[in-house]
Amino acid sequence: MPNGALPDQLSSLRIFYDSGATRPYRFRKKQLQQLRRSLLYHEQALHQALYTDLKKSPEESWVTETGFVLSEISTALKGLERWVQPQKFRTNLVNLPSTSFVLREPLGVVLIIGAWNYPFQLLFAPLVGAIAAGNCVVLKPSELAPATTAVMKRIITEIFPPNYILLAEGEGAVIVPAMMEQFRFDHVFYTGGAGVGKLIYKMAAEKLVPVTLELGGKSPCIVEADANISMAARRIAVTKFSNAGQICVAPDYVLVHHSRKNELVKALQKKIHAFYSDDPYHNYNYGKIVNEKQFDRLVKYLSEGSIVQGGAHDREKLFIAPTIMENITANAEVMKDEIFGPILPVIPFNTMEEAMTIVRQHPEPLALYLFTRSKKKERAWLGSIPFGGGCVNNTSWHFTNNYLPFGGRGASGIGYYHGRHSFETFSHHKSIMKTPGWFDPAVKYPPFKGKLKLFKWIIR
Ligand code: NAD
Repeated sequence: MPNGALPDQLSSLRIFYDSGATRPYRFRKKQLQQLRRSLLYHEQALHQALYTDLKKSPEESWVTETGFVLSEISTALKGLERWVQPQKFRTNLVNLPSTSFVLREPLGVVLIIGAWNYPFQLLFAPLVGAIAAGNCVVLKPSELAPATTAVMKRIITEIFPPNYILLAEGEGAVIVPAMMEQFRFDHVFYTGGAGVGKLIYKMAAEKLVPVTLELGGKSPCIVEADANISMAARRIAVTKFSNAGQICVAPDYVLVHHSRKNELVKALQKKIHAFYSDDPYHNYNYGKIVNEKQFDRLVKYLSEGSIVQGGAHDREKLFIAPTIMENITANAEVMKDEIFGPILPVIPFNTMEEAMTIVRQHPEPLALYLFTRSKKKERAWLGSIPFGGGCVNNTSWHFTNNYLPFGGRGASGIGYYHGRHSFETFSHHKSIMKTPGWFDPAVKYPPFKGKLKLFKWIIR
């Protein structure tokens, strides 16, 4: 979309929103049904595109992208009629006999900015919430997944008029500031790295636009001395190396009690072999790195410790084998930023305090995973470390339970979504108190002199 056409296009969304057309429950339901039909119709094209962009198999694409979004649509269609009802609240003594309730009101025209690693899911899952809540939407896909963007554009233009849902393509660094300067969105929902997240937050602050920021972070995985090692290895390997490790909720590094380290490394090697064979490049289940820039960044990490599994890489094919590293050098870069690739540092610890000190070097990670059989250890870890969300005796799957709100905290983000929580994120909670005329005690009105004792009794 040429930048010159932007202000007109964005104003047309505002006009459509202000017309009230998106508010009725029936309208929202119809759009969600239409979206579901279109996704099913374009499912194969989406899977093909996800293979082109990231070498994802159709099965992986279904679980993490298309099926994921279809499940969000089903949840919204099942719950929406209930969600849009006014919600009753109690009324306090001073305001009796008023009644109180909250109306869910759409926010208006919202901007959703997606990342490249799950280019469909990260754009369309919030879209479902935004439609359910009655908003008009501008979708900004990542420019790093062009094949998927082409199919998403086809879907959006086929079923939605551009003054309702608009897909705006282009370089994020150009088109996002242009849109946010020329137009006041009512909400910006961003998924991606923290650097760009800060820029978005600043631009939004200029116009007091509320934001949801779904960022990343260095999510630790702790394997305690009492853990079931074979189970831990299986559950760590499956999410760490899915999408070639390019997952925001992947375990970034493993902290394992020193008494179980060798056993865990052996079990991880075994699982990698079982999942991806000894030729992961040709393996159906194994993805590729998104581009040369990410490939070069990741390959530098490989010299910062000893490689005990994998390490093979090929720039032309954007391939890095599932890799386990030990003996990470002090101040290694691999332990500074989120890895976001198929490299897993395994670091031994002696005491829980020592492990917590390492985790605290990267405050407020998006996720934390803990493998233990001990309730006491579970309480200690969950109670002492601030993080977005996570799992006990599992990794990453909390993301796929859409009853749970998903989001980070502080450094890993602001706000949450999935399932009903997406509807809430894209709705304003309008609190209303309705007061009947038949009771209007004089005590509430001046003169107030001498009423303090009564006020103290009523307002407590
Ligand atoms: P990315 O490069 O795809 O960028 C994200 C979006 O920001 C894109 O749409 C891009 O066009 C836009 N953008 C880029 N530069 C911009 C600028 N200067 N101004 C405005 N917009 C701009 O994605 P990325 O940042 O490489 O994503 C990886 C990060 O995202 C990782 O840290 C990962 O953990 C995080 N992530 C988080 C989640 C989550 O759900 N919390 C999900 C996926 C990825």
